[in-house]
Amino acid sequence: TRSAAKDIGAILADIEAEVRAENDWGNVASYIPELADIRPNQFAMSVCTAAGETVSTGDAMTRFSIQSVSKVFTLALALGRHGDLLWRRVGKEPSGNPFNSIIQLEVENGTPRNPFVNAGAIVTTDAILEGRKPRDTLAEILRFIRSAAEDDDIWINDRVARSEERTGDRNYAIAHFLRSCGNLRGECALVLGTYFHHCAIEMTCVQLARAGRFLCSAFGDQRLIPTERVRSINALMMTCGHYDGSGEFAYRVGFPGKSGVGGGILAVVPNVASIAVWSPGLNDFGNSKQGTRALERLSERTGWSVFA
Ligand code: GLU
Repeated sequence: TRSAAKDIGAILADIEAEVRAENDWGNVASYIPELADIRPNQFAMSVCTAAGETVSTGDAMTRFSIQSVSKVFTLALALGRHGDLLWRRVGKEPSGNPFNSIIQLEVENGTPRNPFVNAGAIVTTDAILEGRKPRDTLAEILRFIRSAAEDDDIWINDRVARSEERTGDRNYAIAHFLRSCGNLRGECALVLGTYFHHCAIEMTCVQLARAGRFLCSAFGDQRLIPTERVRSINALMMTCGHYDGSGEFAYRVGFPGKSGVGGGILAVVPNVASIAVWSPGLNDFGNSKQGTRALERLSERTGWSVFA
């Protein structure tokens, strides 16, 4: 499983050529104009290796909306602050329902299935917001991501955040339901404002791959989180990182990943590589269509897998 940067560069170039030749991009998310207006035939992939190199192909310097990929960083912060007590408020099981499903919440008394469905991420956001102002919490999230990426040029797109807010009725319904069950401490508007803003963070593939190194224990920054926490987060990304397509992703790709409706995916081969891929067109599960295909191809070509 050890490939030199030069080989990975060649593999990435091949993958991009195959993706572009396939010319089958899926559909961009349509719920807000900032995502609906993005040209689907874009593709980028970056790999950070244990040797400290970053290898990229495609539009790797183009910023995209990381959306639900931000849930990985907020989970890391919430676990850092509350440790295992967080699991009293949110579960660790795949949902089998769409990311914004409400039905499970009522059946399970306001305990979201996992921290990566919207309900779970809203609770996680509440957990890091507790006792603080949204502005300070967002600054903390940005600080974490910037220091993980070793890059300060990472920002929130306010227009995206405002659009999320405008179209966020379902997330409001989830938040109010959570609060009615006693599982949301902050006011709904403050928690959701914070949630919408961290979903609206923009990053390039290079930045996201570099930020993901904290999940690669062998070369991640141990000051950000301890190894046992890396293990927990990777486990959740493996089982819950791709909405109700998580089983399919595990089967096809074979290592942990978290996707967002902006078409980005952060994937981790423990101790080996941190990978970011972006292609804004989505498949039927709401995951990047060519991003998923590209990770599948990468695992075939490199043999990278947590399963064999
Ligand atoms: N901000 C989006 C929402 O809550 C995130 C969607 C996603 O990437 O899964 O609807």
